[in-house]
Formats: sequence, structure tokens, C-alpha cells
Amino acid sequence: SVQTSCDLMVFGASGDLAQRKLFPALYQLDRAGLLARDSRILAIARTEASEQEIRVRLKERLQELIKPDEFDDALATTFVQRMNYLQLDFTQTEGYSALNEWRAQNNQLIVYMATPPAMYGVIARNLRAQSCCTERTRVVVEKPIGHDLDSSKVINDELAEVYRESQLFRIDHYLGKETVQNLIALRFANNLFASQWDQNHISHVEITVAESMGIEGRWGYFDKAGQLRDMIQSHLLQLLCLIAMDPPADLSADSIRDEKVKVLKALKRITPDVMEQTVVRGQYTAGTSDGQPVPGYLQEEGAIKGSETETFVALKVEIDNWRWSGVPFYIRTGKRMPEKMSQIIIHFKPAPHYIFDPDQKHLANNKLIIRLQPDEGMALKILTKDQGLDKGMRLRQGPLELTFSETFDTERIPDAYERLLWEVMRGSQYLFVRRDEVEHAWRWVDQIIRNWHDSGEPPKRYAAGTWGPVASIAMITRDGRSWYEDA
Ligand code: NAP
Repeated sequence: SVQTSCDLMVFGASGDLAQRKLFPALYQLDRAGLLARDSRILAIARTEASEQEIRVRLKERLQELIKPDEFDDALATTFVQRMNYLQLDFTQTEGYSALNEWRAQNNQLIVYMATPPAMYGVIARNLRAQSCCTERTRVVVEKPIGHDLDSSKVINDELAEVYRESQLFRIDHYLGKETVQNLIALRFANNLFASQWDQNHISHVEITVAESMGIEGRWGYFDKAGQLRDMIQSHLLQLLCLIAMDPPADLSADSIRDEKVKVLKALKRITPDVMEQTVVRGQYTAGTSDGQPVPGYLQEEGAIKGSETETFVALKVEIDNWRWSGVPFYIRTGKRMPEKMSQIIIHFKPAPHYIFDPDQKHLANNKLIIRLQPDEGMALKILTKDQGLDKGMRLRQGPLELTFSETFDTERIPDAYERLLWEVMRGSQYLFVRRDEVEHAWRWVDQIIRNWHDSGEPPKRYAAGTWGPVASIAMITRDGRSWYEDA
């Protein structure tokens, strides 16, 4: 059978992540028949509550969060029966003995740390003290692993004291998205692209991850991080790696991660003298979202006056290797953008010798547009002749279009956490981030933060509901290019 009997300990079960993402994902796995009948969940948190209360509350929460046609009352009842509850202060050694009593020795043990990262080391040590884990135990940890290279090393060292790397599953939930995994299929199953995927054929690449929302009540949390740490260090660099990496020898976790690390190591350093041309840091001011007026970052609930945390970053990234020399990757991500949208655009170089109308020369390069969301799919922009007697050889650009929801009979796209939890149960690490990936990403991001700090320059303002500071447009225009807009 594909199912493995698992004992899943969720530390931080009352937290936002566990409630909003993990438990609904586990319910969906159960619904899909992927949880073994004897798989069990131990919810662990500080709050005092009876098991019965926890189960009732969880069921209510699931009913709120799961789409009505996917919510089955009877199934939800059996699902919550899988759950036990342990009240525990993670820092108190004594309480941990209860964990051993709970464990069924034959089940695969999975420890999920849905807690602030500062707790990872404490939990790991306390589990070890009780001999709670074996070499087979799998441990899942959330991002952020630290806020810079040094702090990430502290967390990784604490985990490494107790667990081997092959036991550790570091989440970057972007890697659990169906469309992100599809980048691997697109690149390495289609030989058509393989031969075109380098500096001979590609002029530049764009990656945009735009959020339309603002801070959503998490001002204090976000303000300590900022968009560079929160989004670029993890999600956008992961996307960049998947686009830029060399073909792995196979789909094993280490083959893929080895190739990603090579890209991270080849990222060109951003020295203070090139900051002006390659990095744009922004913060939103009051504006609109969906036609409604919204406050600026500094007027949000809980905001501290004068914060210089960025809510937008645009970067021109260069990769110093044979494949990508001279091909900039323009990447940007921000809050309060005009729409929620993630896409990657591969701009191919024009034909070597152009014979058509000189006025249309700007049209004459193919583009591959990969839509991660919304409308998951891709479009290859192709040049054709405009139809009609009077058009001569005028060109037209049109898409070869693949919209997954239209072409394939997809019943339902699983949420990233469903995929990730399932991979943990199967013991496959290929969608999880290895220690050296985390550290190389921090090393590169740290230098930008250091430059910001040294220059003392505040973020540039942009009105909510726009595509970031004008400097972001200037950055790409300076290279004779523009951010792609679907016309
Ligand atoms: P949260 O809402 O603050 O939840 C933290 C959980 O840890 C709560 O259940 C809390 O219990 C528990 N906890 C903290 N200290 C404890 C202690 N000493 N003893 C016992 N329990 C303790 O945090 P979250 O938003 O769920 O985030 C959890 C992790 O996921 C973090 O690493 C975060 O960075 C990461 N993450 C979250 C999201 C998200 O969407 N929320 C997204 C990406 C990554 P009490 O309720 O009793 O305080």
C-alpha cells in the first residue's frame, strides 16, 4: 500500500500555521485515502484544554476552512478522532515523558515543529533527553531558518546536534506548489527547451511574485523581516534556482539540491557600487486595493513610526557561470501590488538577422510565460504573419497557450502543504531545502542588507495598488527592457 502508518507530533498546534494549513492538509490527505488507518496525530501546545474540546474546535475550524463540497462531516469526525492533545511548555523538560507514552513504536515518527524557530533547538534537545526519537524519525521545520547567515547557523547547528541532515525536512512551501514542481517537468522533459536554455538563446529572465494584500495583522512579525528576507531569501531564490539550474542526473533529493546549490554559489555578489543600478527597495504608502482606499505601511495597525522595513524589492541578479553569463534575471516581489500574481518570463533572443518591417523589430523575440498563479499554465509567444492581402509581411505575436485547468481534467489542485506532508510521510526530501541551500541564500542576501544598512538610505515610497517605486521601472529601462505586461 502507498500509505505508511505515521505518528505525527505537531508542536505549536494552536498556532496559525497548524490551524490554517497543517490540519486542513492532513484532513485532505485523509480524504484522499492517503492516511493509514492507524496513523495518529498528537497536537501539542501550551493552552489548557481537554482532548474533547480540541477535537470539537478542530472540527469546527475544518468546516470553516474546507470548501463545502470537500467537507464530509462523517470523515471529519473520524479524522479528529486521530488526534490526541498534550499540554506542554516546550521549555519544560518534565512534560516530555508523556510523548514516549503516546508513541506507537511501529509507526513512523514525524515531528513537526510549527513553532517559532527559536524553539527548534529546545524541542530537539528535550526529545533527545527522553530518547523520544530514533534515527528513523523525520523532523519538519518551518522557515525562516534565522534572519541572517549567522543566526541560521545557530538553528541548523542545534538541529544537527540531534538529527542527521537526512532526517531534516526544511519547508519552503513554494516547492510544494504544483506549478513550481512543473518547472522541473517543463525543463527536463521537453528537449525542445533544453537546447535553448542558455545565454546563446535567452536574453533575460523575469520573475515576479506580487501580492495584493498588505500586512494582514502581522505587522510586528513582518517588520522584523521585510520582503527581502521573507520572500527573496526563500521563495524567489528557489524559483530562480529551478529556472537556472543544470539538469540533475535524476530526481533524487540530492541530485536536485546539488544543482540548486551550484546556482546559489554562482550568484554574482552585489557590491555597494552597483546597488543603485541593481537593487530597488520600496515601502508602500496609502493608496488603493481593489478600488478601495487602503492605509500605507506606516499607518497599518501596530505600526511603529519611522520603520524603514521594505515591502517591495526589485533586483537585477546575475549568475556567473557558463550557462548564464550576461543574462540578467530581473526579479521583483511586493505587497499591495495591483494584483496577486506570480509569473516567470523567459525572453529569447531575436533571430540573428532581421528581414521584416523595421518598425516591428521590438516584437521579434519569442517569450515563454510561465504562470504560477492565477490561471496556472504557460504561453509561448510566437511570431506569425498578420493575415490579409493588405498586410504584406507584417508580423503579429500570438500565444501557443496551455492553461492547465482547460487542457487537463484536473479535479482539484492539492495545496502545497498536502504535497509536502505527503512527501514527508514517503520520506522523500526532494521538495525540502538542504542546509547548504539555506546558508548560501543567506550569504547572498546578507550582503544586500549590509549595503542597505551602510548606506542608510531609506526605502523608496510607492502608492498601494501600483507596481512599486518608479526606480524599479528605471532599473530595467536602463537596460533597454521593460517589465512584461500582457497586452
Ligand atoms: P504562532 O501562531 O505564533 O504559533 C506558535 C505556536 O507555538 C503556538 O501554538 C504556541 O502556543 C506555541 N508555542 C510557542 N512557544 C511555546 C512554548 N514555550 N511552549 C509551548 N508552546 C509554545 O506561529 P505560526 O504563525 O503558526 O508559525 C509557526 C512557524 O511557522 C513559525 O516558524 C513561522 O515562521 C512559520 N511560518 C508560518 C506561516 C503562517 O502562515 N503562519 C507561514 C510560513 C512560515 P500558544 O498558543 O500556547 O502560545
